[in-house]
Amino acid sequence: MKVKEISCPSCKEKLQVPEGRDSIFCMFCGKAIELTPKEQGDFCEKTFQGQIVPILISYPVWIKKFSREEYPAAFERFCKEQKVFLEEVDKGIAQNQSARMVELVIRGAGEAGKQLSASARAGEVQHGMNTLMAVYVIPAIIRRKRKEAPAFCKQLKEAWAVSFKDSRIKVSDFETIWEGFNVSFFDAWFKRR
Ligand SMILES: [Zn+2]
Repeated sequence: MKVKEISCPSCKEKLQVPEGRDSIFCMFCGKAIELTPKEQGDFCEKTFQGQIVPILISYPVWIKKFSREEYPAAFERFCKEQKVFLEEVDKGIAQNQSARMVELVIRGAGEAGKQLSASARAGEVQHGMNTLMAVYVIPAIIRRKRKEAPAFCKQLKEAWAVSFKDSRIKVSDFETIWEGFNVSFFDAWFKRR
């Protein structure tokens, strides 16, 4: 396993950090240390690429749960299950790989579309992937709170719109989408009275 050496921000002792960890405790002073993507190791294009197509292909599972009742729990599960992908995005953003990642996502979506074309109509697949991007993938990236994440998502959204016909996706966070659910639910309920 690859390790990186960092200095404890509190006691300045040198620490060996195994690659892939996002936090450690200092073995000298006990301080909990959040590791930056740079300290977590290098962005791995292969890992990133390997995740995209399976995620996109899984859209029916997630979209079925995009309802007022099930979305919050489903979103949490998505974030947990796609942790490897999301960590790679963090590293990529921190290591100036945003443009490359956008390219790989677009290519992955093309590949996913091809793989699904036998089992579903093209328009349906595209619509499913658009929804997955807008209500799961992008909010999950924003949830990680990396400073540059919104800029990366905007880049992704623009490339997505250029690459796929009628595929404008919004950059939104989980809270905003969830609020929208509640507002429209309330409106519908109110009007019915
Ligand atoms: Zn320390």
